[in-house]
Amino acid sequence: MTTSLKQALKTHFGFDNFRSKLQEDVVKAVIRGDRDVFVCMPTGAGKSLCYQLPAVLAEGITLVISPLIALIQDQVDHLKDLNIPACSINSKLPAGERRLILADLGSSSPKLKLLYITPEMVASPSFQPCLTDLCSRGLLSYLAVDEAHCVSQWGHDFRPDYLKLGELRARLPGVPCLALTATAPKNVQEDIVTSLRLRLPLTFVTPVFRNNLHYDVIFRELLPNPYVHLHAFIKKALALGSGSNAQGCGIVYCRTREGCETVAFQLTKLGVVAKPYHAGLKAGDRTEVQNEWMQGKVLVIVATISFGMGVDKANVRFVAHWNLAKSLASYYQESGRAGRDGLPSSCRTYYSPRDKEQMNFLIRQEVTRRQEKRGSAKETDKTAITDFEAMVSFCEQEGCRHATISKFFGDKKPNCAGACDYCCNPKAVRAQLERAATLSTK
Ligand code: ADP
Ligand code: MG
Ligand code: ZN
Repeated sequence: MTTSLKQALKTHFGFDNFRSKLQEDVVKAVIRGDRDVFVCMPTGAGKSLCYQLPAVLAEGITLVISPLIALIQDQVDHLKDLNIPACSINSKLPAGERRLILADLGSSSPKLKLLYITPEMVASPSFQPCLTDLCSRGLLSYLAVDEAHCVSQWGHDFRPDYLKLGELRARLPGVPCLALTATAPKNVQEDIVTSLRLRLPLTFVTPVFRNNLHYDVIFRELLPNPYVHLHAFIKKALALGSGSNAQGCGIVYCRTREGCETVAFQLTKLGVVAKPYHAGLKAGDRTEVQNEWMQGKVLVIVATISFGMGVDKANVRFVAHWNLAKSLASYYQESGRAGRDGLPSSCRTYYSPRDKEQMNFLIRQEVTRRQEKRGSAKETDKTAITDFEAMVSFCEQEGCRHATISKFFGDKKPNCAGACDYCCNPKAVRAQLERAATLSTK
């Protein structure tokens, strides 16, 4: 089976190998088809293929739910380029094209392999009979729910229409369901399983722990000159001046535009060319900075968090947070842009209690604003605050940083083996905390 599966991967998608053992295992489990499947892998890990390859090999049609027409369009275009019959029925589709698709779906042997729809379409009365009909004729191979965290109110991307998918499942008996997401702390995972009514799903989750990332926390206010400190960190992380020619690069995250400008200026003055990236720049300048960084012409980019989404660069040797991230989940994602090539990389937060107060204020203000707009409080309002508190205790605690992250995501305790400041030198971490405590009482 493995050889024919690899052959199919090559023939239909042009890939020589699976991206990972996990990707291969998911594909096999989906093809077996006897259980529902839950997949949590990071962005870029190749989740789409987990249903696209089984879809191509199956007799019938795979129904894919995805939250945005733009995401759907990208995938459908890509599949069409590969000569895989795929299309989407959505509110923007001209009536004529829609009729053609429905005619194919109604025929005795439809040509379509993948049908993408947004969750609001699922509930549309004009479309429901078509689905039920396909199902009763045994022509639905799989139901794939992409970005499945949208079903959870705990997630950052909640979409009420996703809640209708539970009922959809009930109307499609016997069709195995595959749920996919990149972000799923334990409570979100549980929501997905319950809402989509997954039955004892086989679960495939990329472990949270990445042993090539070294985490540490530095209290900024204790430093005589924070910029000199950051500069030294960067020089070491990029092995500048060591004669090594393995050219890596890095990201410094700041909360504000002014922060980006200042840090970039100071680093450049100290001898490492660094460029700012934030929403205050003209779009063209922003693209240019990003390209220079992507091409390795500028090694250090100093950016607000708007930078990095969809950026997939392998040799990021460090990610430094000059300001505190807004939650531990965001911090994991942002710092996780380091070391995608698997080589040792550093993730550092420059912590400052003053920064904490500011963030705390901003988050509460945002929550209040949302409540006023809505006219009521919600359970999820608390999430923003507790997720931030998790970020703060990550910085302020005496304990393994990796263990804290793994626990937050509901993963088992990892074997850090010196991949964080605490595990390397717990006394130094304690000493720093004690010095910070005396500073704050002065
Ligand atoms: P995700 O949904 O997990 O973020 P995608 O499905 O969008 O990831 O895939 C990310 C990229 O990886 C795509 O460009 C895809 O073509 C590529 N990819 C997926 N599987 C493989 C593979 N086996 N070999 C090489 N590239 C792959
Ligand atoms: Mg995806
Ligand atoms: Zn540790």
